[in-house]
Amino acid sequence: MPKTIKKLAVLTSGGDSPGMNAAIRSVVRTCAYHNIECFGVYRGYEGLIEGDFSPMDARSVRGIINKGGTILKSARSKEFRTKEGRQKAFDKLVEAEIDSLVVIGGDGSFTGALIFNQEFGFPVMGIPGTIDNDIVGTSHTLGFDTALNTVVDAIDKIRDTASSHNRLFFIEVMGRDVGHIALNAGIAGGAEEILIPEEDLGLDRLVESLNRSKKSGKTSSIVIVAEGDKIGKNIFQLKDYIDENMEGYDVRVSVLGHMQRGGPPSCFDRVLASRMGVKAVESLLEGQTNYMVGLINGKMELTPLDNAIKGKTKINLELLRVSDIMST
Ligand code: ATP
Repeated sequence: MPKTIKKLAVLTSGGDSPGMNAAIRSVVRTCAYHNIECFGVYRGYEGLIEGDFSPMDARSVRGIINKGGTILKSARSKEFRTKEGRQKAFDKLVEAEIDSLVVIGGDGSFTGALIFNQEFGFPVMGIPGTIDNDIVGTSHTLGFDTALNTVVDAIDKIRDTASSHNRLFFIEVMGRDVGHIALNAGIAGGAEEILIPEEDLGLDRLVESLNRSKKSGKTSSIVIVAEGDKIGKNIFQLKDYIDENMEGYDVRVSVLGHMQRGGPPSCFDRVLASRMGVKAVESLLEGQTNYMVGLINGKMELTPLDNAIKGKTKINLELLRVSDIMST
């Protein structure tokens, strides 16, 4: 492999997700394998602007593959959105003779990386780290699988109490713009209804469907609601509506919140992160830039950052149908 890079920096940016540490470890160890000096940047672009980075060798990432969060910390940087801020970041990188950058984050972080490349010609490579799975160019983003398992575990526990008291539970899960977590975890958790931003079921149809479940002999029900669902103004108003329009259920709400971002990454996310880190570093070594690494049909592939940012993931219609059939 021709050696085009000597010093590489890695950072985590935007919302954290389980698997980011495993990806940092992979980037650092792939650098060590190819004799590239690796630097960890603290607090995302904020740290880049301040020159807050330090060398990382293979041993410095021991014991982190199983840890949630990110040892490099993550941040949202307003300053990096300005030309002056990005100039400072570039100057810090040049000063340290760093010649390439791996960004682990979501579409906002990739937008910043792309602009940075366009302004300074600095080689960048993205690793998609977000639990929402809302990035085009990979079937799975880092943390999605772990978040699904966390949500399914929570649904299982809530179902125990729901069925003991004939309760109807609305469970809110993350997903402001996309319903991937809601749809997958809803099916796995045996939810009666799944409400996602991509589909407006309508309040009347929801009541109809819950009444049907009740008539078919169900004594408790679980409805999974993605944060960005359009059906009700918010999950508590949804509860009020059902309270007023349905009888015989004790309606409760559970908002899972930030616990969905935490916890040890699943086996799937650890393997994915390890593969993504290797692919990211080796692609930069081959002279590739402005790409995101991703999993497509089981293989590690590159997608131009521009496409990853602009594209919108689609909901799996087959899963929607499966969910409809399962709630019969
Ligand atoms: P998540 O999916 O968890 O929200 P994200 O990477 O999309 O992650 P953002 O807060 O959107 O998170 O972006 C992270 C950082 O990327 C921002 O704080 C900012 O520093 C940088 N960034 C985002 N958009 C731009 C932009 N248009 N220009 C320059 N930098 C940007």
